[in-house]
Amino acid sequence: MESNKKSSEFNFLEAALVKRTDLFRGCTNIVVGKGNLNADILFVGEAPGKNEDEQGIPFCGAAGKNLDKLLANVGLSLEEVYVANILKCRPPENRDPSPDEIRAHTPWLLKQIREMKPKVVCSLGNYATKFFLAMGDVDKMGSQVGITQVHGKVQDIEIDGLKIKLIPLFHPAAIIYNRTKLTPLWEADMEKVKELLFSFEGG
Ligand code: URA
Repeated sequence: MESNKKSSEFNFLEAALVKRTDLFRGCTNIVVGKGNLNADILFVGEAPGKNEDEQGIPFCGAAGKNLDKLLANVGLSLEEVYVANILKCRPPENRDPSPDEIRAHTPWLLKQIREMKPKVVCSLGNYATKFFLAMGDVDKMGSQVGITQVHGKVQDIEIDGLKIKLIPLFHPAAIIYNRTKLTPLWEADMEKVKELLFSFEGG
């Protein structure tokens, strides 16, 4: 498959910011998102891994297979959600994103949010959760609480004037390593997501 890095679809300001980063120079593909752009829920992970970089699709490796399984267990599929990441390009050796990388890559995520207008954002793991709790202010990410404290707690946030319910969730990759403990917590948290969606549909 040919790399999408030169695609003419990516000729806009937010993509130009990504293209100026070392991560872009080192990656195989830009990983934009997958799922239904008309869905009410947006899942946001951290960054593409090796498989995602090779295929240009988020959550298509081991963490993604677990996400598919976790979604299926609570009766959801990619038809009902959209999935994206904080970073659009894979960091070498899957290292943590730096603040400058988050600053350069998240304007594109915010553009996706403006276009999609999700009612609920589920942040997967610490980086995405802290980004949204800080309402996009990267300098404030360090002072936010971690996922263990905040998972499953509905937060009202505002992104570019759009009011959104944030529900932080454990990252599907973390669940692989601690299945017995974290799977029931994830499922209980997802019940809250579904209740919220149901309340929107009802009212
Ligand atoms: N982990 C993430 O956070 N995102 C992906 O797309 C894959 C693994």
